[in-house]
Amino acid sequence: MTMLDGYARQLDELRSQQLRRTRRRVQAVDGVQLTVDGRALTAFCSNDYLGLAQHPALVEAAQRGAARWGAGATASPLVCGHSAAHEALEQRIARFVELPRALYFHSGYAASIGLLPALAGPGDALFCDALNHACLIDGARLSRAQVVVYPHGDVQALERLLERSSAVRRIIVSDAVFSMDGAIAPVPGLLELAERHDALLVIDDAHGFGVLGPSGRGTAAHFGLRSARLVVMGTLGKAAGVAGAFVAGDDIVTGLILQRARSYVFATGAPALLTEALCTAIDLIENEEWRRERLRAHVARLREALRATPLRLLPSQTPIQPVVLGENAAALAGMAQLWDQGLWVPAIRPPTVPAGTARLRATLSAAHTSGQVDRLIDALLAPDFLRLYRPA
Ligand SMILES: *Cc1c(COP(=O)(O)O)cnc(C)c1O
Repeated sequence: MTMLDGYARQLDELRSQQLRRTRRRVQAVDGVQLTVDGRALTAFCSNDYLGLAQHPALVEAAQRGAARWGAGATASPLVCGHSAAHEALEQRIARFVELPRALYFHSGYAASIGLLPALAGPGDALFCDALNHACLIDGARLSRAQVVVYPHGDVQALERLLERSSAVRRIIVSDAVFSMDGAIAPVPGLLELAERHDALLVIDDAHGFGVLGPSGRGTAAHFGLRSARLVVMGTLGKAAGVAGAFVAGDDIVTGLILQRARSYVFATGAPALLTEALCTAIDLIENEEWRRERLRAHVARLREALRATPLRLLPSQTPIQPVVLGENAAALAGMAQLWDQGLWVPAIRPPTVPAGTARLRATLSAAHTSGQVDRLIDALLAPDFLRLYRPA
């Protein structure tokens, strides 16, 4: 067998386990209405929770940004790729999340794999929730620190592990809202442990920023937490509707990240047109409470409609509302059924979720109408769909 035959076999294995991924070509976007292969679909799959991605004010800000700064940043932020527009965004975010300083990264993925190796190395230990996002897992591996995985959301187990640790530096690392089940992490308990054990807490607020807390300030604000031991990573391609991510925290910690995060130092800066669009997005996040109210109303409508039915959603109060179907084939069949009815709800399979917990992951948006949420409810309660569903 040649090397290339080996790769071909790997692809075949993915297909036979129903784990092969495909991309769909979206031909047109109008809010949550997408055109794919000539057919109209209502999307319950995007992370555009507030319906900002296509907002005319964001598009106009990006155009203004392009006219002023051009298309590209031309160099690393540590050379000449950091403009007054980047600086303004970082200050706007720091004020908004009420932390001393923020840095703007290309993506949440880049932020995670940059920040964890910047803050920890050999001799240190990272304490990671068992259901953390892949970017935190990869960042932890790259750091070459010891990685200690604690049971999902289990603050007491984490405390025992911290007590036993003799690492030089200890960092607790957790999603703030778990991306595949929608649950909110016990952030107050995690922060209390960080304070008590001379540790740091890094939270990934990809799904809380813009959605949770007063004015959408995020999960830390939702719990009213503030601490020099808190480092918040928030992504800006989800609720903020644009692209990139921020890392916010104490001046010293963010100062060190700026010096050492390789995904920041050794990458061309993000285009300033994005930072212009993002400043406008943050104004809308802060000032348009009706978007969050509408989103909460959709979440309540869906959960209430399914409450007295055989179908169990996971216990999530966030816009992430998954239905666990178990086998990969069941999740794919469920997705296909909804697709035939014009609803795009993605099947999520391992390794994104643990084996045997394949699911449909519906995400709600302020851009949905109540009527669209009702169509999702009807499709989930249809006899054909319920036949796929085997409660655990
Ligand atoms: C989407 C996501 C990321 C990655 O953010 P990008 O900006 O898309 O790279 C990181 N963490 C979590 C929990 C996410 O859901």
